[in-house]
Amino acid sequence: MEGGRREILLVALGGNALIRKGEIGTIDEQFANLQVPISQIARLSRYYRIIITHGNGPQVGNLLLQQECCDEVPRMPLEILVAQTQGAIGYMIESTLDSELMRQGIAVNKPLVSLISYVVVDEKSPGFLRRTKPIGPVFSEERALKLGYPTRKTEKGYRRVVASPEPVTIVEKNEIKKLIDMDFIVICCGGGGIPVVREGRSFAGVDAVIDKDLASARLASEVGVDVFIIATDVEGAALSYGRPDQRFLRKLTAGQAERYRDEGHFPEGSMLPKIRAAVSFLSSGGKRAAITSTSAIEDAVAGRAGTEITLE
Ligand code: ADP
Ligand code: MG
Repeated sequence: MEGGRREILLVALGGNALIRKGEIGTIDEQFANLQVPISQIARLSRYYRIIITHGNGPQVGNLLLQQECCDEVPRMPLEILVAQTQGAIGYMIESTLDSELMRQGIAVNKPLVSLISYVVVDEKSPGFLRRTKPIGPVFSEERALKLGYPTRKTEKGYRRVVASPEPVTIVEKNEIKKLIDMDFIVICCGGGGIPVVREGRSFAGVDAVIDKDLASARLASEVGVDVFIIATDVEGAALSYGRPDQRFLRKLTAGQAERYRDEGHFPEGSMLPKIRAAVSFLSSGGKRAAITSTSAIEDAVAGRAGTEITLE
């Protein structure tokens, strides 16, 4: 089939899926974990034009901690640390994908590029004023109480939380669209994108971390993605997650999602942004959206795994 006519598949990879539960996030662990989604994405690139976005929650929090361990070197704001994780994780994804395309014999005519991306945020959004985004390692309650910064109890344990404004637009959307139309595999919007606000004719960075699922949904609408897969460290969205009566959902309509959210099934900062991202993508014309585990991306694309979100 003619390259330009193939559907566009966007896979959003969870930062938490690169550093799994119980791991400390050594480089070997992260490269090994990446192999699982990347080998599937390489195979899918035969049938789809591909965009890969990725989170950075654990990685950006680790960087923040690392720089706080040293007083001799000036500390950098979050916007710079997000840029650093785009470089680091972009490199990891790009090199893993490059080897995998080569191994699978589909490297010919498959250029790939990793793009530093800015995302304009809404300074007035509630997430900019309230800290909703968990980053970095998981702490015990005892340890969390002694830390010098705000933490919140998440499903994984206590984690540092930072401001997380709503994404408004992806600054490089036209460039990304052009690259996709030329059949480049594009890695972009890492860590939700570098958060910026407009100041006259230029941009200024802000001290926050955007949720990558929400940024991915914006990007998906802006470049006309057909299929949106959110790949994370659980098999999909569940009711009563983490409780004995936990039940993973295979299908979820926007109406049901709203009701379950009101009943408290989908927390802010983890599952809720994924559901909001899927619904907003479908509402703006996207064809299919699913939340799945990084090991079941191909099955979710085929409609055999994960939670498929629909408008009705
Ligand atoms: P990612 O880095 O992939 O975005 P997140 O930690 O942000 O990962 O979101 C995935 C996490 O959401 C899961 O590991 C799980 O702990 C949590 N979670 C909270 N509520 C639910 C739910 N209802 N169903 C499934 N997972 C949930
Ligand atoms: Mg997340």
